[in-house]
Amino acid sequence: MEFALNHNSERIHATDANKQDEYICPLCRKKVVFRKGEVNIDHFAHQSKCDDTWKYDMSAWHSEWQQQFPKRNQEVVIEFNGEKHRADVMACGYVIEFQHSPITADEFNERNNFYLNYGKKVIWIFDFTDEFEDGRIDCYEEWSSHNDNGGKFKWSYPKRFLQNYLPQRDKDVIIFFQFSDSKHAERDECYIERVTWAIEEDGYSNFKRFCTSYYPGNYTELLEWIKEHKI
Ligand SMILES: [Zn+2]
Repeated sequence: MEFALNHNSERIHATDANKQDEYICPLCRKKVVFRKGEVNIDHFAHQSKCDDTWKYDMSAWHSEWQQQFPKRNQEVVIEFNGEKHRADVMACGYVIEFQHSPITADEFNERNNFYLNYGKKVIWIFDFTDEFEDGRIDCYEEWSSHNDNGGKFKWSYPKRFLQNYLPQRDKDVIIFFQFSDSKHAERDECYIERVTWAIEEDGYSNFKRFCTSYYPGNYTELLEWIKEHKI
C-alpha cells in the first residue's frame, strides 16, 4: 500500500515517509514498515497479516495511474457488511481499479460484487500494452462517426478472468483497456479504450472478439468523463 497513518493519524504517502517513523495500516491498524522501492515502488508493508486478504497491484504503472487522482481519493478504505477493503480510487460515485498484474475470475467477481453492493459503479483500467504490442490483441477494423469512434478487435488468448463479464450486460462495471500504439502517439502517452461489446456464448463471454469506443482516450479525457458522470 502507498498510504499509512503516522502517530498523529495523518495519512502519509510512501514517497513522504521515512525509516525512523512508525506507521500503522489505515484498514487493520496493525504496524506497517516503510520500504524504499527497488523492485516495487515505495510502499508500506505489514509485519503481520492484514485483516484484508485481497491482493493489491504494486506495479509502477498502477502507482502512476492512482496518483493522477487527489490523495484523499486514493486507497480509500470501505467498510461494508462486516468486510473492509480498499479501493484504489474512489471518486465521483465510482470505484476505480487499476490492474497490471494477473487477476482471477473469482477475484474480479468478488471485487465487483463488493463495490456494487456498496452502491458504487466500478471502473477497471487494465494494462494490456504487451498484448497489443505483440499482436495477441489486434485491431482489424476501425470506425468513426460524428460522436463516437471505435474498433473491432481479435484477441488470441483472452484473459480468463473476463469469462463471466459481458460489457453489453454488466453496465455498472465499466472496463477500459490500455494499449500503447505508436499510430496514436500524438494523442497522449497513454492510450485507452472502453470495451463496449464482447462475443457471448451460453451466457459467458469469450472475448476472442470485442468492440471498443475510443473515448475517453487518455488520462485527461478520462478524468473529465468521470467528473461529468459521462460513463
Ligand atoms: Zn492492514
